[in-house]
Amino acid sequence: MSAFLHARFLASAARAEEIPPEAGPELAFAGRSNVGKSSAINALANRKRLAFVSRTPGRTRMINFFDLGAAGRIADLPGYGYASAPRSLRATWERLIGGYLAGRGSLAGVVVLMDARRPLAAGDRQFLEWLAPVAAPRLVLLSKSDKLSRSERAAALAHARRALEEAGVAATVMLFSIKDRDSVEAVRELLGRWLRDAVRNRK
Ligand code: GDP
Repeated sequence: MSAFLHARFLASAARAEEIPPEAGPELAFAGRSNVGKSSAINALANRKRLAFVSRTPGRTRMINFFDLGAAGRIADLPGYGYASAPRSLRATWERLIGGYLAGRGSLAGVVVLMDARRPLAAGDRQFLEWLAPVAAPRLVLLSKSDKLSRSERAAALAHARRALEEAGVAATVMLFSIKDRDSVEAVRELLGRWLRDAVRNRK
């Protein structure tokens, strides 16, 4: 059975000191606010409200951790891309996320959701730059792909792959929609493999 079906909320961290100690492989989820990150985590876990804990007041700017039983953990990073956010708030965000990404040896993969209708927006590019020193594999999910026609989906996939290649970013790119069960299952399978690989590589 997929590890995601065991997901349980574990903890929230507003500051680096509150990040739980590493324990087994971890998958980080990132993306602009409203890109569909909570919905994606819920779909993977086959739960309606699991990741919406991240939405409760005060938690939108925290890293929320979910336990996947023996398989590992998910770290749901706070959404980025508030261009109008006050500088002090952005600085806090950058300290928290920068510190997390730089120091997390247990990272088995980073999932970056981008809206299939406008992938590689400015905030996305900046986040990918931050990821440059991180060794873990990256999965770019082109979210809400159900909003595109079949030919638009193919074009979006080709465009995103080309843009990432031009930016020198090595990533697996997939179309994703919470309404497309096959895409949910494909992501479960790939991330499940990354979690298992991370354990194997540490032995
Ligand atoms: P977050 O801020 O990144 O966690 O975004 P949410 O998961 O809250 O999603 C933002 C909005 O997009 C909500 O209204 C969701 O219902 C909608 N949404 C999320 N995923 C999909 C999808 O795959 N297809 C469609 N059509 N809408 C989606």
